[in-house]
Amino acid sequence: MTYEIDVESDTKESALVDFSDFKSGYYWIFPKGDFYTTGFGDFSLLKARNLEDINLKFNKKYGIRGKIISKGGAFIPVFDGRLYSGEEGILLTGDAASMVDPFTGEGIYFAALSAKKASQLILEYFDDKVAVAVEYKKFLDSFIAEFKWALFLRRLFFRFRTSMFKVMEISDEIRSVATDIISSNIRYNEAFRKFLKSSIKLPMRFVHVTGFDKKRKRKESKGLSSLDI
Ligand SMILES: Cc1cc2nc3c(=O)[nH]c(=O)nc-3n(C[C@H](O)[C@H](O)[C@H](O)COP(=O)(O)OP(=O)(O)OC[C@H]3O[C@@H](n4cnc5c(N)ncnc54)[C@H](O)[C@@H]3O)c2cc1C
Repeated sequence: MTYEIDVESDTKESALVDFSDFKSGYYWIFPKGDFYTTGFGDFSLLKARNLEDINLKFNKKYGIRGKIISKGGAFIPVFDGRLYSGEEGILLTGDAASMVDPFTGEGIYFAALSAKKASQLILEYFDDKVAVAVEYKKFLDSFIAEFKWALFLRRLFFRFRTSMFKVMEISDEIRSVATDIISSNIRYNEAFRKFLKSSIKLPMRFVHVTGFDKKRKRKESKGLSSLDI
């Protein structure tokens, strides 16, 4: 689920992303000149009634109280293992095809891209509905491997979220991989390869920072740590 509230304000601060309180998502504030876009998305939330309240609770936390310009949200059919190309005579694009990056939640780019491809194919094979359907399916299928990597990395990231942040704090290389993912500068399998390579370089530091070396002690005290998430 994703929800957003635009709030009138003379924005000065930079963008903010807050991962607390979400099982598999985050809250954001984007300053846009004379208003803020605030909102949140959670991959694990399939439906919820109090989306506005959740958003407002976070806005209050960050002191955002101006006049509400617009608000609204929707369920986004993020890729979950399959893409839906449609059938002969009907091509599904964007959200309808589940063309939403399962790591970043980016859907606008893929909606435009798939719509462009669908229209090109319709023009190219105007009298041949079967060829259009076959070629369009091939096009969508070419994204499956990358989206599967994205799904895998998202699950990995949120499963070990606290440890991931700690590792990012101590490793410039891993922080740079994360930035590259968010700005779509890197393919997901390449990101994973870089992540592994960088992680190998800091085993002892990682062990210390994540608390692996305190595991036994924690078990005895039943205390919580990043590894319990
Ligand atoms: C709050 C929120 C924030 C988001 N932020 C981002 C973001 O920052 N970046 C990003 O990449 N993606 C974002 N997304 C996701 C993105 O908006 C969607 O993935 C994208 O808009 C999908 O485009 P689409 O053309 O497939 O579908 P839509 O944009 O949903 O367009 C479908 C259109 O079809 C119309 N329609 C529906 N039924 C009928 C009907 N029976 N007859 C005629 N028309 C009909 C609808 O009114 C709508 O205009 C966000 C989504 C939400 C809800």
